[in-house]
Amino acid sequence: MPLYEYFCQSCNGIFEELRPIREAREPVPCPECYKDAARIMPTSFAAFTFRDGYPRRIPDDGKFYHLEKKVSRLVSSGRPNEHPEINKPEPKKKRSKGELEELKDLRSAARRGELSDLYGNAVRATQVTQMYDNGRVLKVSTPVNPPIG
Ligand SMILES: [Zn+2]
Repeated sequence: MPLYEYFCQSCNGIFEELRPIREAREPVPCPECYKDAARIMPTSFAAFTFRDGYPRRIPDDGKFYHLEKKVSRLVSSGRPNEHPEINKPEPKKKRSKGELEELKDLRSAARRGELSDLYGNAVRATQVTQMYDNGRVLKVSTPVNPPIG
């Protein structure tokens, strides 16, 4: 059976699962929180937008994903599964230049019809900011489903 990769949004974690090819597209329960995790393509890593921290490897080997690279970013708090930046209260602050650029890129991808959420639903340019602020996964790839909402 081939090995596939899945992403759990609630754990911000990536894990591998051996599955029959015909079941590869179906969600798999996360090994930590048992919520459904959607399959991700290896080529999607580079386009993932993660607002808080990096997705981590499950089981936790101390490594995280940043874009398509595996990086070591040790979590210094006593709760190893939580990124220190995730639970900080978030005052309304000015967006950094990087964030503005990223939003601009995401919106122009959306206008070209090339922006999808984690599940392959098309994302409209008008939805980009809100989804970005909610920490939703936005990836530049051709959507398989029509826009949501
Ligand atoms: Zn999970």
